[in-house]
This record gives sequence, C-alpha cells and structure tokens, in this order.
Amino acid sequence: MNNLKGKVALVTGASRGIGAAIAQRLASEGAKVIVNYAGSQEKAEQVVEAIQSNGGEAVAIQADVSNPEEVKALFIQAIVHFKKVDVLVNNAGVMITKPVNHTTNEDFDHQFNVNVKGVFNTLREAYTKLEDNGSIINLSTTVNRLILPTYGVYAATKSAVEQLTRVFSKEIGRGINVNTVAPGPVNTELFMKDKPTAMVERLASMNPFGRIGEPNDIAEIIVFLASDAAKWMNAQNIGANGGMA
Ligand code: NDP
Repeated sequence: MNNLKGKVALVTGASRGIGAAIAQRLASEGAKVIVNYAGSQEKAEQVVEAIQSNGGEAVAIQADVSNPEEVKALFIQAIVHFKKVDVLVNNAGVMITKPVNHTTNEDFDHQFNVNVKGVFNTLREAYTKLEDNGSIINLSTTVNRLILPTYGVYAATKSAVEQLTRVFSKEIGRGINVNTVAPGPVNTELFMKDKPTAMVERLASMNPFGRIGEPNDIAEIIVFLASDAAKWMNAQNIGANGGMA
C-alpha cells in the first residue's frame, strides 16, 4: 500500500519493540524512515535491512532523546539524508515499576529524562523543522487510566506527555496534527521483563479479546494517524488496548 508515499518519518526508539514495528509498517506504506536508537545499533541496522529487503528506504541514526544536542543533530542528519521530515513518532521510552516509596532519585530522573524531556526535545526541533501538514504521534500508556500500584512515576511521565501533546497541538499550527496513542500491555521487552506469567494472564483477561497487544496492533494505529486521512484528529489521546480501559 502507498498511503504514506512521499513522506519521511522519524521514529524514536525504533530498534526494538513497538518502535521497530512502527518503522516497518510506515515503510510498508511507502514512507522513508529514520530508525532512531540509543544503544542497540545492531538491532536498528536489522530494522533498516528488513525495510530495505521489502523494497523500502530507511537509515539508522543514533541519538539519546534525553540530550537536546543529540536531538538537534538527529533532525539535522535526518534532513541531510532524506531532505525533510513529515512525520515524528515519539516512541522511545523507559519504564521502572516500583512503589513510589522505593523509587530512587535516579529512577525518577531517568524516566522523566527519557519519557518527558525526550519528547520536549523533539517537539522543540519539530516546531521549525517538521514539514507543513506533517503529523506528530507521541506514545503514552493505558496505565494512566488504570491507577495501578508501582506505575506512579512512569504514569506521571506519560501524563506529562499527554498534556504537552495537547498544548503543543495548539501552538505548532502549519497543518500539523499532534496526538497521543496510549497502548495497553504490549508483548515487548519493556512490558514482559520480570513479569510473572500469572500477572501477564491477569492483564490479558482485562480486555474482551483475552490477550495482550502485539507491536503491530499499535503500529497499525500509528500508520493511520500519520496519514492525511487522520488530519482532522488533533490534540487527542487514543487508547489502543483492546478495550481494557
Ligand atoms: P522497548 O523497551 O521494547 O523499546 C524501547 C525503545 O526505546 C528501544 O528502541 C530503545 O533503544 C529506545 N530508547 C530507550 N531509551 C532511549 C533514549 N534515551 N533515546 C533514544 N531511544 C531510546 O519498549 P516498548 O516498545 O515496549 O515501548 C515503546 C513505547 O511504548 C514507550 O514509550 C513505552 O512507554 C510505550 N508503551 C509500551 C507499552 C508496553 O506494554 N510495551 C504499553 C504502553 C506504552 P535502544 O534499543 O537503542 O536502547
């Protein structure tokens, strides 16, 4: 399909998990894709190779989204490589699940630095560097609707992302729509790491499909939001959780 032919998409944290699926689905719709990663160079290159072997175009660019200078360089390199950026997907994220009283200063700072400052850094660059009529999609979480113990600081970071999204959507203009997608539990390293099977099954039973999400479930929604068909959807937070909440 060619819904995104002619567009260039920058996906942060696209070396693994949901971001890798998003990068591949955007490319399969005709977009040229920048596969950003922090440390997993080999995995990012594998995503690029998968896109290229499917007839698409992609490049891997390293940048820690929490670092404003690296994000500035990421946009510059992306534009040098593909001439422009139309679609920004702020997918890079980290999660540390601990009760608030066990959360260290480092846990707090790391999650806010990547999840909130990372989005802030890219939005600031996008303000001048994203093409007119582009799209921005930020990743939040269904946890914000569930009030689950141990997710306090993580949920706080994603609540900040949701509010930043709403306000920024009214600031940027130029035909650019800005939305958040809030997945429920998805089968990736971030969610599955150290999770007892019983807890995964309990969370899976909280939606009528009786399963957790797969990265492609989320990628399909991002593809729609990146397309011109979704242009009238702006400043929204879209749940992607099978009906969990
Ligand atoms: P994964 O842990 O599987 O992948 C995280 C990705 O983010 C990796 O590509 C990683 O790059 C990248 N990343 C981490 N830190 C940085 C950084 N500082 N700069 C640039 N990239 C970075 O996560 P998921 O795929 O599960 O999650 C993707 C997004 O979806 C996150 O924002 C998460 O909060 C959100 N989400 C996930 C849910 C889930 O159940 N999985 C549910 C709801 C929301 P590298 O490999 O190079 O380290």
